[in-house]
Amino acid sequence: MFESLSQRLNQSFKALRGQARLSEDNIRDALRDVRMALLEADVALPVVKDFVAEVRQKALGEEVLRSLSPGQVFIKIVNDELTRLMGSHNDRLDLQARPPVVILMAGLQGSGKTTTSAKLALWLKEREKKRVLMVSTDVYRPAAMEQLASLGRDIAVEVFPSHPSQAPVQIARDALDAARKQVYDVLIVDTAGRLHVDEEMMAEARDLTAAVQPTELLFVVDAMTGQDAVNTAKAFDTALPLTGVILTKADGDARGGAALSIRAISGKPIKFLGVGEKVRKGLEAFHPERMASRILGMGDIVSLVEQVQQEVDVEQAQRMTDKLRKGKGFDLEDFREQLRQVERMGGLTSILDKLPGMSEIPSEAQEALQDKKPMRRLEAIINSMTMEERRHPEIIKASRRRRIAAGSGTTVAEVNKLLKQFEMMQKMFKKMGKGGKGLGRLLGMN
Ligand code: GDP
Repeated sequence: MFESLSQRLNQSFKALRGQARLSEDNIRDALRDVRMALLEADVALPVVKDFVAEVRQKALGEEVLRSLSPGQVFIKIVNDELTRLMGSHNDRLDLQARPPVVILMAGLQGSGKTTTSAKLALWLKEREKKRVLMVSTDVYRPAAMEQLASLGRDIAVEVFPSHPSQAPVQIARDALDAARKQVYDVLIVDTAGRLHVDEEMMAEARDLTAAVQPTELLFVVDAMTGQDAVNTAKAFDTALPLTGVILTKADGDARGGAALSIRAISGKPIKFLGVGEKVRKGLEAFHPERMASRILGMGDIVSLVEQVQQEVDVEQAQRMTDKLRKGKGFDLEDFREQLRQVERMGGLTSILDKLPGMSEIPSEAQEALQDKKPMRRLEAIINSMTMEERRHPEIIKASRRRRIAAGSGTTVAEVNKLLKQFEMMQKMFKKMGKGGKGLGRLLGMN
């Protein structure tokens, strides 16, 4: 799902590569690509318009922390908006009502109602440990009744017997009665669909709804039908008190337009995705945030931005930048400040993994940085230095090294090592200051 959209969106972020800030101009270029990407994904036009407007507003108002690139910040904004568009969080089935909880499945013929009824039954049985009863009210297609019975046998879930000669509402009532008497936790009612939306089908679904008072009225729709899916969702939502949507055949949908539009247009959450013909493993809970990160394929950057935005001391980074701009070098005092900052962010390893420019850093320096354990000892060593020594490490000769080692409870070898690492970092920052990527940027060095 979403393969083409992912590619197109990633294309749009390229517009921001090498830019120093988010500006009206570069945002406009990136947004034009985002808009194209969404339209090509068959997202409904009003949804695309709102989305782009929202991203523009957020991007213009967003301060790009010196430690991040505009591209990263933009990706985060798009990610957040995609998540919001799809409903922000996973909407679970309401299983709190007094049992039997009734779940009514509505949708067009061929959308996957019957298959999905069985998938849901299996899900409830295995994951929620519920006793489930299913029933088919599709009196127009005997094959549909037989299909549900057969699926029920496959997954060892009871199916209430029904016959095409009976009235749908009566079947549903009888099934509910049986579910009550036999203390089932959940009753899943599969209904008849038509090829197109028609009043007769809606009237029947309304009657069934009135008769069994479902806790969940789920609209089942084929994701591959794109904007049609959205329009059908709207029609069903107008006619029936839907509680949620199940988007089927997501496995065959490379565009994802329905997944992105349905929530915004119908106001109803997508609760599950159908991801295969098989009843077992064919159903997934729908998680907007996971979907968004799947679409962008940039989960790492998104979490990095979050981490930095939450935890980097912006002022400190700014002071550092100013200082370096004024031509003063990176000294041990700064080094200690960096160590503290890095520690606040959960250690270097967690940051380094996420940085695109990492491979450019010499491997020795990388090793020195990844060594997280001795960070506290490093800090202790620097603490034992005088201010003069921190500002001018070159004056730290043998006798000073011995004193510092003793004072910090470390060894001369460790002090030597720290000074060597510091020297290496100094070089690295100088180099990165020119390139403008990676750790230097993260730590607010350029
Ligand atoms: P109904 O008419 O709404 O009851 O639809 P069915 O349950 O009979 O499903 C119609 C067709 O879609 C069948 O061939 C199913 O195997 C197929 N189908 C249902 N859900 C999925 C899904 O999530 N992925 C795929 N690939 N096929 C599905």
